Amino acid sequence: MTISHIVSVSGGKDSTATYCKAIERGIAFRAVAADTGNEHPATYEAVNTLHIKTGGPKVEWVKADFTDRIAGKRAFIEKNWEAHGVPADLVERALAVLHPTGNPFLDLCLWKGRFPSRRAQFCTAALKVEPIDEGVTRPLLAAGCTVISWQGVRAAESDVRKHLAPLQRIEAHADLSGRLYVWRPLLRIESVDEVFAIGRRHGVEPNPLYGWGLRRVGCFPCINCAKDELALVDTYFPEQIERLEEWERVVSEACKRGHSTFFNIVNDPVMQAEWNAHLAAGGDPASTHAIHPFLSRFGIRRMVEWAKTDRGGRQYSLFARDVSTVCNQWGACE
Ligand code: SF4
Repeated sequence: MTISHIVSVSGGKDSTATYCKAIERGIAFRAVAADTGNEHPATYEAVNTLHIKTGGPKVEWVKADFTDRIAGKRAFIEKNWEAHGVPADLVERALAVLHPTGNPFLDLCLWKGRFPSRRAQFCTAALKVEPIDEGVTRPLLAAGCTVISWQGVRAAESDVRKHLAPLQRIEAHADLSGRLYVWRPLLRIESVDEVFAIGRRHGVEPNPLYGWGLRRVGCFPCINCAKDELALVDTYFPEQIERLEEWERVVSEACKRGHSTFFNIVNDPVMQAEWNAHLAAGGDPASTHAIHPFLSRFGIRRMVEWAKTDRGGRQYSLFARDVSTVCNQWGACE
């Protein structure tokens, strides 16, 4: 029986420590990272230099491709949208922008016609879990290997992760002859300092983004980042906010409603206040269309302005982090 150890790497502290733990175990392993297209250059640098600093294996990149799905969406829109009552100008706008850009995050949003959110966090599976599965795990399982997938998850991070097992058999892929297990070597490590110390034993300093005060580096920014992190991104890396502004413009063109925002609009405190005013004025609570006239005024730029205020608290998270998602189970986003 052939055993293949696969370490998932994201450029964050936990996956880096996991990679170093695999080196310390003295086993042969492959390291793989998923390119979301929404990463800071420092994260690409951290991943691409890991093998040079440690003497471990070079990290292999995988990348989701939505070319076929965008083509399918185009065909669907051409055939159905006008018949479903979507105005002709919106159909024309959507068809004009629905072309693959080669950036996985943007192409995923174009295909879906929206950005991901906490309740519809399709980004982790589509951009990270599935490309690694299709590009690396499935071929090994199809060849009859036993695959041990190393995941950098710590119980101390959340209530959901607290209940995870160090070693877990994954029953997916019953159609393939190999067996898949997840191994979580950091599960019982409590402190972040201890995690950084593992990397330092191998000459790896933390991703510099942590030095700027950011706590999540898995995407830049993540749709789930905290209020103070968003303010930091704008202060030190305003070009990333400009990029998201442009993405909001393009994805909105591909959206049937005509608007889509990077952060879920329901988390926008100003939108919530206006919605409450709408209800107080006797507006129809069942009519989501009632808020559509507001939508064009919301988006990443307005959320950044709010992030710089004291309203909502400095640490107010743009979502409730402790939810059961593939992100929590696989530690794909940190
Ligand atoms: S880091 Fe955040 S935005 Fe990126 S894939 Fe994970 S959940 Fe989605």
